Amino acid sequence: LSLSGGRIVPVVRAIGEVFLAGAGPGDPELLTLRTLRLLQSADVVIYDRLVSAEVLALANPEAEFIYAGKDEGHQNAVQAEICELLLDRAGRRGKRVVRLKGGDPFVFGRGAEEMRFLLEAGITVEVVPGVSSAIAGPAAANIPVTHRGIASSVAIVSARCKGGRLNDWRKVAGVDTLVILMGAKSRAKIATSLIECGRPADEPVAFIERACTPEQRVTETTLDDVAASAIEIEAPAVMVVGEVVRLRAELADLARAAMDVEV
Ligand code: SAH
Repeated sequence: LSLSGGRIVPVVRAIGEVFLAGAGPGDPELLTLRTLRLLQSADVVIYDRLVSAEVLALANPEAEFIYAGKDEGHQNAVQAEICELLLDRAGRRGKRVVRLKGGDPFVFGRGAEEMRFLLEAGITVEVVPGVSSAIAGPAAANIPVTHRGIASSVAIVSARCKGGRLNDWRKVAGVDTLVILMGAKSRAKIATSLIECGRPADEPVAFIERACTPEQRVTETTLDDVAASAIEIEAPAVMVVGEVVRLRAELADLARAAMDVEV
């Protein structure tokens, strides 16, 4: 420690760095090259529940792996522990830390909260974007989130707000395509609210469960069927509401026809 202008400041500081990186939706082929390279050279990998084992298998085997999954109800306590861990490994021990989050770190991943905490503690942070399930999930089911003439706007919406309250659907009800994350459990309430907000009851809806993994499952239905709890869906799932969902069947027909074309 030394005195500088009357204030005590640390002279030697650890030179750790945190990479707040997106792991993509599951399939390791959908990692960015930057995230892959960072994983290969990481000292510490702190990963979330939605990061797939296949992605972790690509990281430096000598690295320290720390699971930082947040089960519902304990998010805030766990979040504080994660921040402490980051501070310890990067700040105190000077390690190269990859903080790996499912999809993109800045799409409902509390990425900026961790970044703010680290920057306030004087630790360097780099954000490495990832392929978000909000876009890749629908795409993996042959559903474009926009389509000329059908959908010129898309909203990515969390089913819940801070404190666990359901979102106010009036804010987004007029957007052409709604991509709803964290909504598997509350799907019936969401669909009911959307119909109340004026969306047609027969509007198509798709759920993509475990998108971009070998267990991917796609369910096509309508808002009124979802509101009536007529379908079974398990988290994690991306919910897509909008006319674009119809393109899936059309593209599947074309794909089948293309297979039948003699060459
Ligand atoms: N940062 C992440 C989203 C975190 S919120 C991203 O950009 O993808 C967690 C929600 O994301 C889940 O509840 C689910 O709705 C969605 N999700 C993430 N990965 C998914 C996957 N492989 N398949 C389906 N949904 C997924």
